[in-house]
Amino acid sequence: MKKVTLNKEVDVKKEVDVIVCGGGPAGIGAAIAAARQGMDVALIESRAFLGGNITACYVESCNYFLWQGPFAVTGLYKELEEEYRREFGNSDDIRTDFSPHRFSSEYLKIFLDRKIEEEGIWLRLHSRVVDVILDDDTIEGVIINSKSGFEGILGKVVVDCTGDADVAAAAGVPFEQGREGDGLTQPGTVNFRVAGVDSEKVKKILDEKGITYFYDIYNQKVAEGIIDMGYKRMNFPMGRLTAGGQVSYINFCNVYKIDPTDADDLTRAEMLARKRVLQFFNFIKEYLPGFEKAELASIAPTMGFRDSRRIKGVYRLTAEDIDEGRFFEDTIAIYPRFYDMLSPTGTWDDLVYIVDLDKEYGIPYRCLLPVNVEQILVAGRCISTDHMAESSIRAISACMATGQAAGTAAAIAVRDNTNVRDIDVRKVQQALKEAGVRLPD
Ligand SMILES: Cc1cc2nc3c(=O)[nH]c(=O)nc-3n(C[C@H](O)[C@H](O)[C@H](O)COP(=O)(O)OP(=O)(O)OC[C@H]3O[C@@H](n4cnc5c(N)ncnc54)[C@H](O)[C@@H]3O)c2cc1C
Repeated sequence: MKKVTLNKEVDVKKEVDVIVCGGGPAGIGAAIAAARQGMDVALIESRAFLGGNITACYVESCNYFLWQGPFAVTGLYKELEEEYRREFGNSDDIRTDFSPHRFSSEYLKIFLDRKIEEEGIWLRLHSRVVDVILDDDTIEGVIINSKSGFEGILGKVVVDCTGDADVAAAAGVPFEQGREGDGLTQPGTVNFRVAGVDSEKVKKILDEKGITYFYDIYNQKVAEGIIDMGYKRMNFPMGRLTAGGQVSYINFCNVYKIDPTDADDLTRAEMLARKRVLQFFNFIKEYLPGFEKAELASIAPTMGFRDSRRIKGVYRLTAEDIDEGRFFEDTIAIYPRFYDMLSPTGTWDDLVYIVDLDKEYGIPYRCLLPVNVEQILVAGRCISTDHMAESSIRAISACMATGQAAGTAAAIAVRDNTNVRDIDVRKVQQALKEAGVRLPD
């Protein structure tokens, strides 16, 4: 391929203790945790708002699988959800057939803006981390790009919460992607929102017959050859139903066999997904009772991904660890045995969905620690795991938990003037417990 050289001197915009890259669930957890440990924190987000997949992809039903217990999330996720509920209640939802734990992506954007401000975190939106500043194998900062051009941000520790491990990859951390064998990731999904539904009618169906009533209509029409989406998916979870006639998301329009880190693939996939949104919207308007007067209110700002790069860390969490309910000396989060692996091929045959809330496992600190670069931690869905284990730790509250642990560890390393690799993990565990996180004794 033909090459050009990008050779620039860049102004240093900010020098802080901890740089958090990415303002999704993991990044919010990391930034708040580090700030509460007294650190100067910079939070860098490429989009115009915080929340990651929750707000950008309308993934509002964060903890639906934990709805009926017995597993209870602790730490920052619990705190933020409770605070959100005090202000926004049930997010205008009138559904009673399903988990009440849904956010409104719109209220959440506003809530998170304020939260980050209150915590004294320096936030930069519209700014993508495009490169890293390295001194040998130690990261010293990141280069961001925005309407203001290229800028440097320097920090003592960098926490990569970009979902795709963009920062770690730029620093030369090795990674895996997709499932072992063929490298296929789960599909990309473009959720969409509809308005103008007959809320009372839809609510009655959901209460009396359940959402499978709608799924059955779709699957019947597929069998009759009336609709063909080009892939096999038999369900389409719906988000909040409001008295004003909105269904806040429909999660159905997938694109398969794409690389979430390849911009050409992303371009093709977004365009194909939008065609599928229109096709599916027309279907539901014609065939689902209560949707006769529906309009396509919005298409999520971006395609959402459930997995992409997974860093090579000092420890690689496996499905076997989860199945065996293993805990580790350096456990920094507890999660239940839950797997949500959408079919990577679009056949529906390789789908895995297990909710086994009586069994718990530990996520070790070493999964956040890349093998070869110093002063960087990774949190969220791109930590070091095998593909199946990722389908568990990718859950939003788990991502916030690894973020909270990473932010806490970064702060302790700065305070103790040590490397995140050499830190005394017991201090991190103690600080997390003091912050309300349940950990093994
Ligand atoms: C359609 C769909 C449905 C899902 N349903 C559920 C569900 O019901 N429950 C559940 O728990 N999980 C669900 N998930 C999974 C969940 O959304 C993700 O695993 C989770 O959001 C990952 O959190 P994260 O913080 O690691 O990454 P993300 O949520 O992806 O956040 C990463 C953030 O980093 C920013 N960023 C990325 N690159 C850069 C860069 N280079 N520079 C600066 N900023 C950057 C992004 O803009 C984003 O804000 C779903 C996912 C999808 C796609």
